[in-house]
Amino acid sequence: MTCIVHVPGHGGADPGCVHGGLIEKDWTLAMALACEEAIKPWGIEQHLTRRGDINPTARAEAQFASEHKADLVLMHHVNTSENPAHDGLMTFALVIDPFGVEVGDAIARAAPARLLRRNPKTTLIHPMDQDWPRVFNCLKYHTCPAVLIEYGFATSFKDRAILMDPLSQHGLVAAVLAGVARMLELARGA
Ligand SMILES: [Zn+2]
Repeated sequence: MTCIVHVPGHGGADPGCVHGGLIEKDWTLAMALACEEAIKPWGIEQHLTRRGDINPTARAEAQFASEHKADLVLMHHVNTSENPAHDGLMTFALVIDPFGVEVGDAIARAAPARLLRRNPKTTLIHPMDQDWPRVFNCLKYHTCPAVLIEYGFATSFKDRAILMDPLSQHGLVAAVLAGVARMLELARGA
């Protein structure tokens, strides 16, 4: 059976980014739960690395995913930047993970119009890069195909308004579903 593991970013003592009422650890958990709910009718096995306010280590999350033999790991995050003009939904995957890159591209391309970037492509992460921002540790340890989704920038006034709008969440979930559909196509060799 196809299996997806969701990693809601941050948790516990680590709130992630906090801007203008958006608390990343709560937002990512709500998003992962919404995705789980939307994917349920597809008959795919799903697990979350957390369902409460705890923060498993990146290694523990990777271990969890490999124990469940995940076909895909989806890491849910919100981006930040010192430049308030930076905006849009971004996906990240290891360059050695073509499956993750394809799924990430499908999610990036399906982003809601107001979060769609000019060049919606997965940003490739090189596993040997010593200058990894800490956020990419979660990708580094994974042995399963994995996509890190930064749904938008909490530091962008426009993005934050979209992220905090409950209706817009449906558009974000739809983007994830496009990635899951691509995953199923790839699994069939399409
Ligand atoms: Zn984050």
